[in-house]
Amino acid sequence: MAVLIYTENRDGKFTKASFESVSFGVRIAKEMNLPAVVLSLGTVDNKALQVLGKYGPDTILTLEDERFDTLDNKAYTAAISAVAADIAAKVVLFSHSNTGKAVAPRVAARMKAAYAPALTGLPVSYNPLIVRKKVMSGKAFADIGLSGEASVLTLSPNAFEVVEKPADIPVEKVNIPVDDNWFTTRVTGVQKQTGKVILTDADIVVSGGRGMKGPENWGPIEELAGLLGAATACSRPVSDEDWRPHEEHTGQTGKIIAPNLYIACGISGAIQHLAGVSSSKYIVAINTDPDAPIFEAADYGIVGDAMKVLPALVEEVKKVIQ
Ligand SMILES: Cc1cc2nc3c(=O)[nH]c(=O)nc-3n(C[C@H](O)[C@H](O)[C@H](O)COP(=O)(O)OP(=O)(O)OC[C@H]3O[C@@H](n4cnc5c(N)ncnc54)[C@H](O)[C@@H]3O)c2cc1C
Repeated sequence: MAVLIYTENRDGKFTKASFESVSFGVRIAKEMNLPAVVLSLGTVDNKALQVLGKYGPDTILTLEDERFDTLDNKAYTAAISAVAADIAAKVVLFSHSNTGKAVAPRVAARMKAAYAPALTGLPVSYNPLIVRKKVMSGKAFADIGLSGEASVLTLSPNAFEVVEKPADIPVEKVNIPVDDNWFTTRVTGVQKQTGKVILTDADIVVSGGRGMKGPENWGPIEELAGLLGAATACSRPVSDEDWRPHEEHTGQTGKIIAPNLYIACGISGAIQHLAGVSSSKYIVAINTDPDAPIFEAADYGIVGDAMKVLPALVEEVKKVIQ
């Protein structure tokens, strides 16, 4: 028996969320007295795979086949379930990323395992296994008891600190046959955004709401984001109005993010917006209304006109970083 941790890479480099998953999975494995096994799918060079050893697993497995370089839910489900069966996984862990959200429930169904998504911390109890997650748009926590032979879990990004336990772990190739019938889709071309920080991976996010009045006022938000190496985001009405692209919309019906710093400019802080950003480590709000609900969620608040505060902030940041 083991704890199996699926690790995601982007163009051959493992994501920060994967390092969090390994750290989390290693801790769970230790508490359950089981080995922690990490799994990588697709072509990743040996050096990148060995980086995973820094976070304390007992085994690093790789299933190298270039058809895994792009996500095919059916193929990923088949491969991860086959490895889980091979090592008799008691727990299979994913990051709560787009891939995790798509594949983890399928793996759970395939394994006939219990499923708990978007965990916010270590289990409350290991025997029986009881895990904790946010519910009601982040207003409450629910403790969920999992029964059965195995459990499939996903971990919210930024919910668990990366813990380094350097060790030289050899990388082993997975010894299961890859079936051609697993692959039902084929990516024929990819057009990538260049020079933009990916919102769900970003450490810092600068976000604008309806208080920014119109798309022509996004200059200082983009400039501040550029200076800080941050991603840009927005509230839902902003993307509904086509002021900003839909992939920037955060909240209950948009992306759920948990950066270290979230700067909310002209955003009221409606519960549906906070559902997507309340796990940020620090929230800074800029709003003209001192009674705006965003100030209840914020760690730092600036009561003022974002059109004036943002350019001043940009100038101050320039002084610090230049
Ligand atoms: C089912 C459902 C799902 C939803 N899902 C989402 C979601 O996923 N994400 C989301 O964001 N919303 C969502 N909403 C909408 C949500 O309820 C709010 O309407 C929305 O978040 C408000 O966006 P806002 O804060 O940009 O705009 P507003 O509520 O209009 O707030 C604008 C804010 O800007 C301030 N302001 C005005 N001028 C300035 C200025 N010059 N400088 C600084 N501040 C200024 C105002 O004081 C105000 O606080 C959802 C709603 C429903 C019903």
